[in-house]
Amino acid sequence: MLGQKKEKIYLCQACGFQFSNIDVPRTCSNCFACTGCEIYICPSCGAEVVIKPIQSIKKSNV
Ligand SMILES: [Zn+2]
Repeated sequence: MLGQKKEKIYLCQACGFQFSNIDVPRTCSNCFACTGCEIYICPSCGAEVVIKPIQSIKKSNV
């Protein structure tokens, strides 16, 4: 089904605020070719909440 996301609740380590991945858009700090990283900005304190850190792509051909 399009437009249906699984809701997940994440916790900001900085301020303890809980937010849903549906309420807060995912942000990528610097990867134009996203490797599946998952980073959010806490809506309460603005801290980066890293769920999955940015990974370097492991491919033999650069
Ligand atoms: Zn926070």
